[in-house]
Amino acid sequence: VSFFQQIPQAAPDAIFHLTAQYQADTDPRKVNVGVGAYRDDNLKPYILPVVKKADSILFHNESLDHEYQPIAGQKTYTKASSKLILGEDSPAFQQNRVVAIQTISGTGANHTAAAFLAKFHKKGAICLLSKPTWANHKAIFNNVGIQVAEYPYWNPSTRGLDLEGMLAALEDAPEESIVLLHACAHNPTGVDPTREQWQRIADVVQKKKHFPFFDCAYQGFASGNLDQDAWAVRYFVERGFELFVCQSFAKNFGLYGERAGNLTVVTRTPEQAQHVLSQLEILQRSEISNPPAYGSRIVDLVLNDKQLYAEWNDNLGTMSGRIIEMRKRLFEKLQQLQTPGTWNHIVDQIGMFSFTGLSPAQVKVLKEQYHIYMTDNGRISMAGLSSKNVDYFAESIDKVVR
Ligand code: PMP
Repeated sequence: VSFFQQIPQAAPDAIFHLTAQYQADTDPRKVNVGVGAYRDDNLKPYILPVVKKADSILFHNESLDHEYQPIAGQKTYTKASSKLILGEDSPAFQQNRVVAIQTISGTGANHTAAAFLAKFHKKGAICLLSKPTWANHKAIFNNVGIQVAEYPYWNPSTRGLDLEGMLAALEDAPEESIVLLHACAHNPTGVDPTREQWQRIADVVQKKKHFPFFDCAYQGFASGNLDQDAWAVRYFVERGFELFVCQSFAKNFGLYGERAGNLTVVTRTPEQAQHVLSQLEILQRSEISNPPAYGSRIVDLVLNDKQLYAEWNDNLGTMSGRIIEMRKRLFEKLQQLQTPGTWNHIVDQIGMFSFTGLSPAQVKVLKEQYHIYMTDNGRISMAGLSSKNVDYFAESIDKVVR
């Protein structure tokens, strides 16, 4: 008998399947607003000019070799990454209660953090995820044996945040639950809490002794301002929370394939910080031994050099600026067409994604009749729009909602 005989066929990953369908479509009008990867106005992948520069510096650096990296990654990289999210003058740095470990991009940061919690957090604790959230969150927690529950987040009737629903769910959850929060540019809704709303969220998290778990995949990509996009995390740190922050450099450096990420841990004391780091290293050793060098070297170089850092900021402005421009163009076109419904959310939402509010049935028609590819939940990646296709996109939406 074959052991493999009993293995069932699994469904393909929804997003990657959608991309394959798009690629197979031969219609010249086709539009891909599915995958969350930045494209320039010609809809081509964008290599950040600062990354090209760093590339060339690395290429000519004779002292670099291909030896193993430290288990936790290079300190210069992890430290600069943590400073980027927590802020240079964070009280947590001054008090030596920050440690970090290099991870396999943002996914790896989420996984390592989840694996750590499965091992050390209260047995049976659940992880609370926003409804909806990045589809991988549930899989990542379930894979390490942590059950998930959802808190309301998106309010379909206002096409905004369901703050009261969210607060009530956090309040009703068992004490010491893990609460996963998107640091900025919430995926898939593009809706972030305001600063006043974050304060109320922090109040409940504190009262219920929940553990804040921040996922930050879009710093600098949302508003174009790195500090602004880090506000929520820094606010929680200022309030004295111990927490995790997962960072990805896939989007903000355009390093999708290099898998450069970081997991930052803020503890209450310096001793705790060292204990946590030692346990993270044990975990890392059994999972990947040592993190990959190349992408993190690029990030390291840019974050630790004033001039390159300034250039990176410009590049971030180019990307976030184009996305904001596409939001405006789409909104204006829908207004001009007098498309039924309100569409303010297109310009109010932030980051790579917009949650259109289109139904699964409308999404299907868009795909089959208009060659427009988006996920079933009506999420669109703004980066898939350009000055050339935004009018066609708006006209197609106009037709399916009438
Ligand atoms: N978290 C969220 C919310 C994301 O949207 C993404 C990217 N789609 C990630 C984490 C991680 O992506 P990566 O592993 O490519 O860094």
